[in-house]
Amino acid sequence: MALPIIPKASFPYTSKWLKGKLTYHPFTVGLESILLQVKDSKDKTEKLNAIRQILEDCVAGADVMALPLFIVEDLFIRIREKSSGESVQATYICTNAVDKVTGKNEDGSDIIAQGVECATPVHVDINLKDVKLAQEGEHKLVFQITEDIGVKMRYPSLETSIGENAPEDIVLGCIESVFDAETVHPTEGSTNEELMVFWNSVPLSKKKEITQLFFQSMPSLSYTIQAVCPGCGYVHEQKIDSLNSIFT
Ligand SMILES: [Zn+2]
Repeated sequence: MALPIIPKASFPYTSKWLKGKLTYHPFTVGLESILLQVKDSKDKTEKLNAIRQILEDCVAGADVMALPLFIVEDLFIRIREKSSGESVQATYICTNAVDKVTGKNEDGSDIIAQGVECATPVHVDINLKDVKLAQEGEHKLVFQITEDIGVKMRYPSLETSIGENAPEDIVLGCIESVFDAETVHPTEGSTNEELMVFWNSVPLSKKKEITQLFFQSMPSLSYTIQAVCPGCGYVHEQKIDSLNSIFT
């Protein structure tokens, strides 16, 4: 006889940087083991692929690969929160410079090494509820290059972030369309070479503007850790702006 199937609780997800609404459900034991496998991996792509696998299973209503990377990160935090609790323990190594006793002189006095790294592990509790997306400063998606010609940007997705993409390719991938007085040209209709020729003709001052007002001011996870080192008493304050710094 078939056993009853336990319905998965599902939760709505909205963000002011996302069109439409998604739903997600907590991850199962099987998916948790995927996370554990990549926990200590230094490979960014390996980690992103694990996150992708989990999101593709837990999120309904969107193509995960096409979502902005910061939405993916936020969604992952929300799923993790509902799956295994709000609290995450992280450990950092204290890099404060201290004077350390390294041994004894013949006369019994201490040998002191000055300005060495404290290196004491500092344990911090992160409440995932407090980790939220934030956007600071002026930020925009549409840039006028000349009086008539301009570009509309889109956020880097999980797709553009997985793998070894040159910075230039990531920039090109973030141009959604190029417009002039008459027409909007979606970049899907252009080859990479055509896009490159266009991008190379953009004046440096405009590239700087796009870097500052689009790339550098993009929404990101935001959380500040405050922890006192048990070894030297130094108060560490660290801003967290990505998943990697939480799940180390
Ligand atoms: Zn310390």
